[in-house]
Amino acid sequence: MTFELSREHEEFRRTVRDFAEARIAPHAAQWDREHHFPTDVVNEMGDLGLMGLTAPEEYGGSGLAGEDGGFTSLCLAIEEIGRVDQSLGITLEAAVGLGINPILTYGTDEQRQTWLPDLVAGRRLAGFGLTEPGAGSDAGATRTKAELDGGEWVINGAKQFITNSGSDITSCVTVTARTGVSTGSTGDGGSTGDGGSTGEGAGKPEISTIIVPAGTPGFTAEPAYDKLGWHASDTHPLTFTDCRVPEANLLGQRGRGYAQFLATLDDGRVAIAALAVGLLQGCLDASVAYAGERQTFGGPIGRKQGLAFQIADLQVMLEASRLLTYKAAAMKDAIDAGGADAPSMKAFKQAAAIAKLHATEAAVTGTRIATQVFGGYGFMEEYPVARFYRDAKVLEIGEGTSEVQRMLIARGLGLPVE
Ligand SMILES: Cc1cc2nc3c(=O)[nH]c(=O)nc-3n(C[C@H](O)[C@H](O)[C@H](O)COP(=O)(O)OP(=O)(O)OC[C@H]3O[C@@H](n4cnc5c(N)ncnc54)[C@H](O)[C@@H]3O)c2cc1C
Repeated sequence: MTFELSREHEEFRRTVRDFAEARIAPHAAQWDREHHFPTDVVNEMGDLGLMGLTAPEEYGGSGLAGEDGGFTSLCLAIEEIGRVDQSLGITLEAAVGLGINPILTYGTDEQRQTWLPDLVAGRRLAGFGLTEPGAGSDAGATRTKAELDGGEWVINGAKQFITNSGSDITSCVTVTARTGVSTGSTGDGGSTGDGGSTGEGAGKPEISTIIVPAGTPGFTAEPAYDKLGWHASDTHPLTFTDCRVPEANLLGQRGRGYAQFLATLDDGRVAIAALAVGLLQGCLDASVAYAGERQTFGGPIGRKQGLAFQIADLQVMLEASRLLTYKAAAMKDAIDAGGADAPSMKAFKQAAAIAKLHATEAAVTGTRIATQVFGGYGFMEEYPVARFYRDAKVLEIGEGTSEVQRMLIARGLGLPVE
């Protein structure tokens, strides 16, 4: 057993950190203030290969298979970007985990050839439309409908809070929609929560996934939300009104859309945990520096136990969150690599939920500590900790709330929790 990253992973981390320090950190406060989505820097992240870390070479990816730690590399990249700017961290996380991943995993050869090269290069982005006004944690309660008519899906409904769905480089959004009633052979089951069972059941709504290209008539990305944090990230409500796309845009098996999206969220939870780890590291770095500089009562505030011990707690939270996150990432890489000693999917799902729950709750507490260390300046936008404080909260909500993680973990223990 070893708790060290490989030399290659450490070198990769250094490369991403240098990029983040040079190209993102100096502008993060301004982008946040102006709610500006920096398309050019997103493209540069693509040039650096960050969107292609888990994609095969034939689509322009790095070709890093599980044994080379491709998913761990992605988590390190999200952590390092997130250390200076959570908005760009979530942009990367969603670009790969929610945009590329479903098409790579479930797409036909033609769908992959059509969408992946631009997504993997970071020239374009794809959104992932699961959440609806009446279906968030209860994602199986999808109301959006898609009906076949003359070789086309006709989609009607709405999605909300969808990341990367309305930027000027968004090429498509994959959406879940009811496509009929399950016969019991392939159906997904109904309202069981976004951590819910994928149990099949006759008579329940059949949910499928459909790729909707940006610009399709009837598909509208409504004006962006005014959010508490993640100001430089792109998030929109989406509406679909008699929106017609070819029947061939069905992604994966008809009736398996809900199950596909739940599986996508397992990886996403580890990636969100990595984003939280980056936030904690950013808070720790800023707190240690400030505690050494700021003078009160004739010396630096770091000399006072009441303050220093809070920063010590921050280090403990960071370390525990990082270990849980890297463990889950390594499990994912081991599963992708195959082999007799690969962990089970059940063990990975549990590890992903544990990492997400712990790291995101630690991030919220950690940003509270960091703003406290900064005193009045913790409340001023001139230091990044105020932005970090606003950015942290959503980590406990997106890709499954803390309550949903606890539900999953309890179910993993065999408890009959609803
Ligand atoms: C900035 C942002 C970006 C997002 N990006 C995307 C995206 O790209 N794609 C996408 O599909 N979605 C996205 N989401 C949606 C996100 O995944 C949902 O907001 C989240 O799953 C919660 O759903 P909800 O908002 O409907 O809350 P609700 O499900 O209404 O939950 C409200 C509260 O009730 C609790 N609750 C609900 N059910 C239970 C239960 N059974 N037991 C205990 N407590 C429960 C919840 O934990 C929560 O505290 C995004 C959200 C935000 C804020």
